[in-house]
Amino acid sequence: MSARRPIVAGNWKMNGLRAAARVLAADVELASGGMPTVDLVICPPAVHITEVEEQVRAAAATEGRAPRVAIGGQNAWDKPTGAFTGEVSPQMLADVGCRYVILGHSERRTLCSETDAVVNAKVNAALAAGLTPIVCVGETLAERESGRTDDVVAGQVRGSLAGLGAAEIARLVIAYEPVWAIGTGRVATPAQAQAVHALIRGLLGSLAGADTAAGVRIQYGGSVKPDNAAELAAQPDIDGALVGGASLDAPGFLAIARAFAG
Ligand code: PEP
Repeated sequence: MSARRPIVAGNWKMNGLRAAARVLAADVELASGGMPTVDLVICPPAVHITEVEEQVRAAAATEGRAPRVAIGGQNAWDKPTGAFTGEVSPQMLADVGCRYVILGHSERRTLCSETDAVVNAKVNAALAAGLTPIVCVGETLAERESGRTDDVVAGQVRGSLAGLGAAEIARLVIAYEPVWAIGTGRVATPAQAQAVHALIRGLLGSLAGADTAAGVRIQYGGSVKPDNAAELAAQPDIDGALVGGASLDAPGFLAIARAFAG
């Protein structure tokens, strides 16, 4: 079990029309009770964020309490405003109630050619907007099978975090997501995941000092499901999960969160 406060985030990706998004958001918030020891985040498609945020607040209000579920974006541009057709700035995400933003997800690295330098610019922009970036890194199957996992992940961490000071690194969440495990049903073993999480924490220590590194939360992502979450949560350097497919089902997502809540 990790010494840090766990954080479980749902990446809805490009799924769900308005009605479904509203129901899912309310269901997650209403079922979030009894888990004061874990941070919960949902990351809807950008067009749904305003309504999802309203739904979460309304659901919490029916129980006379503040929301437990925070909202995150799935991506952001690296500038606050301007002629960037089709893009959303981190300031816009913050303005509609986001506290987090996923950056450098492998789907964006692959499908949208986002390099570490692009991710680095976005991390800086998100921090400037007061958001908590969830910075994703992870190796492909070919890279793992050729024994390059450590080099690839270390390179992505160094590149994505280039130039950040300890105070900025302390504000990040890192998500280790082996590409071969995302959406495939093939989860990394707890030992495989723990080994890479320990590597990342060591690297953060060299970049920002051991005390800072000890406080940074590192999520695992890649086919996390209710039936494999507990063994991942038992690892000392796995501080939560970034959940794709399973986050589209409120009971399943909450079951994963409960595994991390201890
Ligand atoms: C993800 O896209 O971040 C992810 C981990 O997806 P899945 O849980 O579906 O593998």
